Amino acid sequence: MERIITLKSNELDKSIKIKYLLREKLITKGFKVIDYLHEDTELIISIGGDGSFLKTINNFDFSKKLFVGINTGHLGFFADVSIDEIDEFIDLYIDNDYIVQEIPILMVTVTTEDKIINIPIVNEVVIKCDKSKVIHANLNINGKQIQKLSGDGLIISTPTGSTAYNYSARGSIVDPSINVIQLTPLNPLTTNVYRSFTSSILFSRESVLEVIPEYRFEKSILIVVDGDEYKFEKVSTIKTHMTNQNIKLIRMPNYEFWNRVSSKFL
Ligand code: NAP
Ligand code: MN
Repeated sequence: MERIITLKSNELDKSIKIKYLLREKLITKGFKVIDYLHEDTELIISIGGDGSFLKTINNFDFSKKLFVGINTGHLGFFADVSIDEIDEFIDLYIDNDYIVQEIPILMVTVTTEDKIINIPIVNEVVIKCDKSKVIHANLNINGKQIQKLSGDGLIISTPTGSTAYNYSARGSIVDPSINVIQLTPLNPLTTNVYRSFTSSILFSRESVLEVIPEYRFEKSILIVVDGDEYKFEKVSTIKTHMTNQNIKLIRMPNYEFWNRVSSKFL
């Protein structure tokens, strides 16, 4: 039976060159290489940085197939294989010598006056104002009102997204073996008039978070999922829940999360 690998690269010359090089190498090893998703595709390779990896996941509709990233510059938290490790990776792949990391998918459900939209999340959903105003929103956890949040907005992050925008907003880095949902406020107000959480809050994976913008702001809510902007008219609520779905990401056999954190950040 033919073994099929799907290749996807970003638009950079460097990435496209790597794509052709990789294609030749894989064909030599007996694989069929295509640029679309076939039902018999066994592996999807994304060439680029983290942004490209997130795009690849989206383009292939959060496929249950194996994914791997080849890093052609940038940060590359998802992309495990560097350019000079390509030959090594192909051999390890053929020998089934790799780690499969399961990346949890959070779901955000946006309810507007006339529709309900579900968007799957790898990193985070950012809820903010599309104008330069303070927004106010109520936060409900599992159907119970907790507090009103006032500020620039908030981030709801997966463990995977904890090292991305969440970290820049002073959220905590989360060990991927702990499946928590993290809410991080963006420049929260704490005055005599407005009370908000000032630190990140960690919720269990079962928690349903619901953000209800005040009616004055329903028309100016901007929702950003993994870097993609969504603007909906009259947003009444934004809810998140953890799904049982995963992205299966190949890591090199020596992959270790904290090692990666210290080499990329510290
Ligand atoms: P971008 O603006 O090019 O990316 C921002 C940076 O975040 C890039 O260096 C990217 O890596 C890195 N990144 C993405 N996912 C990561 C993860 N899980 N852990 C650690 N770093 C990660 O936009 P993009 O490349 O399309 O990525 C979208 C992501 O950008 C969003 O999901 C959000 O987390 C992040 N973002 C961060 C800020 C901020 O820190 N202030 C603001 C907006 C968005 P690569 O260089 O390899 O692409
Ligand atoms: Mn990027």
